[in-house]
Amino acid sequence: MDVVLELADNYVFDSLYGKVVDAFHVSPMMGASSVNTTAPIFTTSVSASSSIASALLDRNNLFRQGLSLFFITWIMGTLTYFVSASIAYFFYFDREEARQHPKFLKNQEFLELKVALMNLPGMALLTFPWFLAELRGYSYAYDNPSEYGYFYLGFSVVLFLLFSDFFIYWIHRGLHHRWFYAPLHKLHHKWIIPTPYSSHAFNFLDGYSQSLPYHLFPFFFPLNKYLYLLLFGSVNYWTVLIHDGKYFSNNAVINGAAHHASHHMYFNYNYGQFFTLFDRLCSSYRHPDQELFDAELKRDQKLQKERVGEMEFMLKSVEGEDDRTYSGKKNV
Ligand SMILES: [Zn+2]
Ligand SMILES: [Zn+2]
Repeated sequence: MDVVLELADNYVFDSLYGKVVDAFHVSPMMGASSVNTTAPIFTTSVSASSSIASALLDRNNLFRQGLSLFFITWIMGTLTYFVSASIAYFFYFDREEARQHPKFLKNQEFLELKVALMNLPGMALLTFPWFLAELRGYSYAYDNPSEYGYFYLGFSVVLFLLFSDFFIYWIHRGLHHRWFYAPLHKLHHKWIIPTPYSSHAFNFLDGYSQSLPYHLFPFFFPLNKYLYLLLFGSVNYWTVLIHDGKYFSNNAVINGAAHHASHHMYFNYNYGQFFTLFDRLCSSYRHPDQELFDAELKRDQKLQKERVGEMEFMLKSVEGEDDRTYSGKKNV
């Protein structure tokens, strides 16, 4: 995070905070910033606003670092979501097929975007303290890729994915417990037929709880900080990929879009994020429906009716009455 923050300081925050301080006509004492200001001496008469100004002008100040990391997390998270989901949605997601499904919601994409954009700031607010702790040296994140050897560097990727997948499996499964499902996780299951915009359309406490393993990992195991940035970006992108309706992988090991589509359709299966391993070990694995990989079977109305019947049965057992409004283009 130090590299990202330094870049952001150089190109955005130094000048932005400098302008904020100027706008309030505060006269702060110079901090360790590179912002040029010819401020006079700090005086007690403007102590509150001056101390904030002083904090904003000092790159090493905890308050400034936290504020900057909050904005970086929020903006980068929103951009990653919006750009990658839009690429998937406009370039290869089969919009017409999704809209033809009887369980596609009225104005679904708009609703998904609204939920995601409303919840991402809350998620950033809960997430930035982890980045701040890492920045201030409380984690095992390290600089030099060779510090623990290149074998460990590669192994740390496998360990990161297995560690995250194990804990996400249990957190996600826990979110399906009746105590947590309605208040936290139901919002993400509003989308029976997901689109790429469903990926981050969740309650921020739901999204944050499932992202906790990513943040915890470098506090337990050494992880190169550049690799951490790459992994964190990749897992966010993966979240979009498992909602993008591109069922190219019928892989037995990887938990792909087809597996996660089955989770949205039948609720109590395939809780994993990257692998099918923990679903298989804990008896919650469900093989994706065959028609997801077979265009001819997909057009079979009788089969679709059976699937919808099963989905409605599962929905009733999990949620009770269905409060969704479907687009109603074609009812089975
Ligand atoms: Zn779920
Ligand atoms: Zn999902």
